Amino acid sequence: MRIDCPICGERDLREFSYLGSAALLARPSGDAGTAAFHEYLHVRENPAGPNAELWHHNLGCSAWLHVVRDTRNHAISSVALAAEVQR
Ligand SMILES: [Zn+2]
Repeated sequence: MRIDCPICGERDLREFSYLGSAALLARPSGDAGTAAFHEYLHVRENPAGPNAELWHHNLGCSAWLHVVRDTRNHAISSVALAAEVQR
């Protein structure tokens, strides 16, 4: 699998680290309560299909990327800098 980093260009998967679901970008506010934080920390979708994920280009530019990857075949449909993705 290859990821097209918006800064570095297309690179091999071994240059990246997977963090998890891009739902982590939507952190609840500090006063949201324990149920909201439980949902944020422990409850995840596990779709068979397109899934928004966070990847770190740790052997490249060190950017955090928002990647939409199909979990059935690893086809990547979009890559963007996580800092520029609408939350
Ligand atoms: Zn990069």
